[in-house]
Amino acid sequence: MRAIRISEHGGPEVLRTVELPDPEPRPGTVPVRVTHVGLNHLDLWVRRGVPGHRFPLPLVPGSDVVGVREDTGEVVALHPAVGCMACEACLSGRHDLCRRYRIRGEGMDGGMRQRLRVSEAEILPLGDALPPEQAAGVPLSLLTAWHMLVGRARVRPGDKVLVQAGASGVGVFAIQVARLHGARVAATASTEAKRALCRDLGAEVAWPYEEAAREAKAWTGRTGVDLVVDHVGADTWETSLAALRWGGTYVTCGATTGHLATLNLRALFFKQLSILGSTMGSMGEMERAWRHVLAGAIRPVVDRVLPMSRLAEAHALLESRQVAGKLVVAQDL
Ligand SMILES: [Zn+2]
Repeated sequence: MRAIRISEHGGPEVLRTVELPDPEPRPGTVPVRVTHVGLNHLDLWVRRGVPGHRFPLPLVPGSDVVGVREDTGEVVALHPAVGCMACEACLSGRHDLCRRYRIRGEGMDGGMRQRLRVSEAEILPLGDALPPEQAAGVPLSLLTAWHMLVGRARVRPGDKVLVQAGASGVGVFAIQVARLHGARVAATASTEAKRALCRDLGAEVAWPYEEAAREAKAWTGRTGVDLVVDHVGADTWETSLAALRWGGTYVTCGATTGHLATLNLRALFFKQLSILGSTMGSMGEMERAWRHVLAGAIRPVVDRVLPMSRLAEAHALLESRQVAGKLVVAQDL
């Protein structure tokens, strides 16, 4: 079968199409023919490399996979990550804390290939709940947003939540997950078109980044919002903290614009802020969040669908940050 594989880190040119053996039929595994794969910002880190982190190269990228079960003909999506299923964390349902937790296309081979085999536990049913190219824009980002808001920050009805970069892959789901839990949402985005998308997804208001702290105070009529959801990183760190009310919570799952920030400890203790880190989520959280997708309560935003053979072009688009929502590639290898 054909696959796209990274053998060394670098620019989009390191995404090479190669011939690989078909996945071995091991007992307890299900054969899946890949039809669509969604891209995430993670794909860029995997391709470029991250100082101090070793990826298992050569590696087939692609975390969000949709395909057809070859044994039953059903259309399915795949869990974007799996735990070892044997350690204390996994047995407690906290796969996200498993030391052997692996993200598809990051810690193990992903979906940019014709076929793969997975265990039954890795399968999310899809059927005709939504088109496969839409479904491929969901799992990893939805899980990330769900774990931030529900697992970590424990969002409650009536909370006022600010979602930074509301039109991003994680942002579109953060808005919807917050709304689903009865929160009121404000979002930031760089352009009016992206802000309109945020409002369309359920944000009550949407602001340019630089106005977030001031607008948050005006919107709440208090010292700021209850909760800030952020993955922009260094560029938004200060305004995120400034937009929080006293006693508010900041939760982050990434640092696209830089991972080093200065923290004013006096503001932290005096305003009694909570700062939470979050990454991915448990397989149970994925199952729970997925139910809302199947019920139509959470919808993806897919910017465009490209052929898988043009993956390098999709990477360049994602890097240009000219994308609202998700990029998805369709099987043509
Ligand atoms: Zn484990």
